[in-house]
Amino acid sequence: MISPVLPTYARAPLAFERGEGSWLIERSGERYLDLAAGIAVCALGHAHPKLVKALSDQAAKLWHVSNLYEIPGQEALARRLVETTFADTVFFTNSGTEAIECAVKMVRRYFYSLGQPEKSGIIAFQGSFHGRSSAGIAAAGSEKLAKGFGPLLPGFTQVPFGDLEAVRAAVTPETAAVILEPVQGEGGIKPFGVEKLKELRRICDENGLLLILDEIQCGMGRTGKLFAYEWAGIEPDVMAVAKGIGGGFPLGACLATEKAASGMVVGTHGSTYGGNPLAMAVGLAIMEELAAPEFLAQVSRAGGRLRQGLEGLIASHPEVFVEVRGEGLMLGLVCRKSNAEYVTAGRAAGVLLAPGAENVARVLPPLNISDAEIDEALRRLDKAALAVSAAPAA
Ligand SMILES: *Cc1c(COP(=O)(O)O)cnc(C)c1O
Repeated sequence: MISPVLPTYARAPLAFERGEGSWLIERSGERYLDLAAGIAVCALGHAHPKLVKALSDQAAKLWHVSNLYEIPGQEALARRLVETTFADTVFFTNSGTEAIECAVKMVRRYFYSLGQPEKSGIIAFQGSFHGRSSAGIAAAGSEKLAKGFGPLLPGFTQVPFGDLEAVRAAVTPETAAVILEPVQGEGGIKPFGVEKLKELRRICDENGLLLILDEIQCGMGRTGKLFAYEWAGIEPDVMAVAKGIGGGFPLGACLATEKAASGMVVGTHGSTYGGNPLAMAVGLAIMEELAAPEFLAQVSRAGGRLRQGLEGLIASHPEVFVEVRGEGLMLGLVCRKSNAEYVTAGRAAGVLLAPGAENVARVLPPLNISDAEIDEALRRLDKAALAVSAAPAA
């Protein structure tokens, strides 16, 4: 008999009751160091006092009014995002998928409003993840995501990740845009590379294409910059943001230049919940913390400490790991055996990881994890590696 909850997830047998910073407390009372952070969502860890206060103060005043009315929190958070990024304007959503959906509609509408509706094609990269909507799975184009859900939304082409010659070859008179995760997350923590990102921007400019960046996982400080595109010194035309921007409250955003957004006039797009007062209160509090002097520098320092520790872990257990990759606090342990086995061993050792493609165990801690917590996490990761290496071959 089917379970009351639609059985689409393979869940670990843990149910957490409380969180405190980088720690999760299971109903048994067991404490776990959380290096998954709700899949790069809990940027400030669990139950951060400033976020709790922002949300509960707003909850006592007003939850929801819909976009029939002005929402001052949206104006404040949008202004904040416009001041700190390439963008001139922001559409708020409840999730990453919806931010991607807005981005896809926006680039198509841009060319439509220029009188070039035939320009609707979007070039994407293999191994990418852009959410589970019909547009998201069509963009990623992988059999794993899309099988059985056809006919898929037309207009998407995939090229090998990092292959700029393939991008050039895929451009046609119908191409509108390129969509890229600067660091693939679900795909197994794979940075596209700074030089390649610069070159991709050049290809878009030469061909009159818009560049959409999906920074849903790699943005909001995770790589040590507010957004990963900053490392390359380029700017996108459109960018999808989610995960860290809500710190656990469902919030996403589609950011754009004035030019790219020029087709999105009154009535072209909308959301009932998107940008509601609760989400805006939390988003503003997160942006304030990330903007604090030293916050991002501390992410880079913590990322360096963690990475060095992980290099040591790999050196001690070459039979378990191949390498560590990623940027800042967006790291991946490439496992030699099975990543699922290592993630399970991590749980037994009291440390939580998130599996990714290419046999990767993702290490995505809260951005404010302390040095002492990093050191404790490394001890537990070592214990998990010992357990895996002692286990009989499957
Ligand atoms: C998580 C993620 C999404 C989808 O976001 P949801 O909030 O799950 O809808 C899209 N793109 C990337 C890169 C992601 O990491």
